[in-house]
Amino acid sequence: MGRVYNFSAGPAVLPEEVLNEASEEMLNYRNTGMSVMEMSHRSQAYQTIIDEAEQDLRDLMNIPDNYKVLFLQGGASLQFAMVPMNLMKNRVADYIITGNWAKKAYQEASKYGKVNAIASSADKNFTYIPDCSDLSISKESDYVYICENNTIYGTKYKSLPNTKGKTLISDISSCFLSEPVDVSKYGILFGGAQKNVGPAGVTIVIIREDLISEDILPGTPTMLKYKTHSDSGSLYNTPPTYGIYMCGKVFKWLKNLGGLEAMQERNQNKAKILYDYLDKSKLFSGTVEKEYRSLMNIPFVTGDSDIDAKFVKEAKEAGLENLKGHRTVGGMRASIYNAMPTEGVEALVAFMKDFEAKNL
Ligand SMILES: *Cc1c(COP(=O)(O)O)cnc(C)c1O
Repeated sequence: MGRVYNFSAGPAVLPEEVLNEASEEMLNYRNTGMSVMEMSHRSQAYQTIIDEAEQDLRDLMNIPDNYKVLFLQGGASLQFAMVPMNLMKNRVADYIITGNWAKKAYQEASKYGKVNAIASSADKNFTYIPDCSDLSISKESDYVYICENNTIYGTKYKSLPNTKGKTLISDISSCFLSEPVDVSKYGILFGGAQKNVGPAGVTIVIIREDLISEDILPGTPTMLKYKTHSDSGSLYNTPPTYGIYMCGKVFKWLKNLGGLEAMQERNQNKAKILYDYLDKSKLFSGTVEKEYRSLMNIPFVTGDSDIDAKFVKEAKEAGLENLKGHRTVGGMRASIYNAMPTEGVEALVAFMKDFEAKNL
């Protein structure tokens, strides 16, 4: 069997060009005589790889000089703890609950202080983003936390919350590099690489310098201090060397395609193909309120779980993989990250039309 169209939410599709390049360099990286996997993280060759990866990410996202880029491990889930451990000086924080990942972050932070859920879309199974223009943000709050693109529910913030001057922390795991962002509006942006950036095992944290200090919760392990990693250029201990190398290749791929403006346009066109069809289909419907629709994760249902299961099975047989929805939403979900080609979405819609004709 050849390569399929992989609609997995993560680990997810990577650009074929990147995989091919990595495969060519697998045994002997640029005449070093070894694979990047076998290379010391203290070698000059590796230093060049991580420096270029950082610089390319800075170029792509226009990251201001007063922000650090950290390549860490532990997944986005470890940031649920690192954020409060490093930032909760008053032991108060405000969280906006727009799905499972925001809820998990909220629960983790609750171990360290008084955490307020200042808005939530739980009342409608997270099918929208709550109004965040005038939230009751606490005076002593150390930060306001959001999950910007909700991977499971398929919603995305279309404007950032009014934090009333408080530092904004954002989990961008599933919308990382999908469109331009104004980094200066955030204190921290973080994400696991395995959704839209690279292989699992790398977590990228973009953090404003003034938030990095030794004044953190007592007992915070050395490895969980932002300062540890910032002071050592993400080389305090062995970083996920091969994963960072792959992320670096994806950054170069994005730059070659024209950067994040070009990627945004491509993503909008791609998502429109599926949303337009969902809006007129008599069998399938999207689950999210239109104005909050994600460009990356698109859940849809037929309303009949047997037909849903039949669809997922037959789609797989047709080379359209990983379309089963998350158990909390049911139905289907197509994750169409940067690396999903337009032809993949076209193939999905063609298959859905055919399935609709046979099953309605
Ligand atoms: C997948 C995901 C996570 C969890 O990521 P891990 O790297 O597995 O810890 C957190 N937040 C969002 C938005 C995600 O999509």
